[in-house]
Amino acid sequence: MRRHFIFLSLVFLPVACAAQSLETENVFLITIDGLRWQELFTGADPDLIDNENYVDDPNDLRKLFWADNATRRREMLLPFFWSVIVREGQIYGNRSFGNYVNVTNKYLFSYPGYSEILTGFADERIDSNDKIPNPNKTVLEFVNEQPGFEGRVAAFGSWDVFPFIINESRSGVLVNAGFESASDGELTEREIFLNELQGQIPSPWSTVRLDAFTHHYALEYLKKYRPRLLYVAYGETDDFAHDKEYDAYLKSAHQTDDFIRALWTWAQNTPEYRGKTTFLITSDHGRGAGDNWTDHGTDVEGADAIWIAVMGPDTKAHGEIRENGQLYQSQIARTIAAFLGLDYTNERAVGSVIETAINR
Ligand SMILES: [Zn+2]
Repeated sequence: MRRHFIFLSLVFLPVACAAQSLETENVFLITIDGLRWQELFTGADPDLIDNENYVDDPNDLRKLFWADNATRRREMLLPFFWSVIVREGQIYGNRSFGNYVNVTNKYLFSYPGYSEILTGFADERIDSNDKIPNPNKTVLEFVNEQPGFEGRVAAFGSWDVFPFIINESRSGVLVNAGFESASDGELTEREIFLNELQGQIPSPWSTVRLDAFTHHYALEYLKKYRPRLLYVAYGETDDFAHDKEYDAYLKSAHQTDDFIRALWTWAQNTPEYRGKTTFLITSDHGRGAGDNWTDHGTDVEGADAIWIAVMGPDTKAHGEIRENGQLYQSQIARTIAAFLGLDYTNERAVGSVIETAINR
């Protein structure tokens, strides 16, 4: 009689972990300096679009960005936000639905705002835009110290104060900001050309470069070095607003929306990033209303009003949040870390994770 050997073949099925692990492996933090919630949620402002104090050619601007319906207007101004992000992500801060996002620092201008975004708390000592190295550690510096993230955190900004806000020399986080050229490793043809163009195209401002340089330097860096935490800080909107140029402010906002689309599209076409990358987009401060739209600061009503958009594999597609709620700028840092599976803390208490944005 033959012995029958029975071979048991064991089939291993992937088992979903009880403690949910996140899909996000990379985070892109993006800021648009001083872009008001009013334009984000209602498009071109009816009180400003025809105002000759702020607009050279109202007919031209109306053709580009005007519709009677505010929903249509915002789609015309920011088509990526109001097609892709609203469909796949979450957008907080539409105050007409009682949904609030506020700055907690009392100064309501840029360095205190960026420091709050990046550290997770308001520091009353950060009371100017002066080029003073940030005494606080940012979430960029924290992430850069974690295993698997060393050397894979980078920041690109149009404003020349970012190397100080991020404390580049202490943190070791690569920062390319202001009028810096690309200088890392072997330069790509595009980087060489950007370096050349940056010297040939005068910026309207002494401390802020045009955002196209920031954007394309960031994109070239992405292709070369594959950072896991990338910060891109667009700056034109704030400066055009201070210059009282509503037309340029809107055109810049529209272009920035398209830059963000380009980053998202690149990520979705790149295997290391596709389906593994979360975008978090916000602003450093708000601005006033009516004639005060040009300004912000402690004495400008509404300058503490900001907004936050989030999109990625661990964020439920709730779209525009149309319910009462309150978020703070100080919650962004810890939320970024949470998407990367890290628990960010600092010497001071930091804002809590935005739990509704992260499916964990
Ligand atoms: Zn400003």
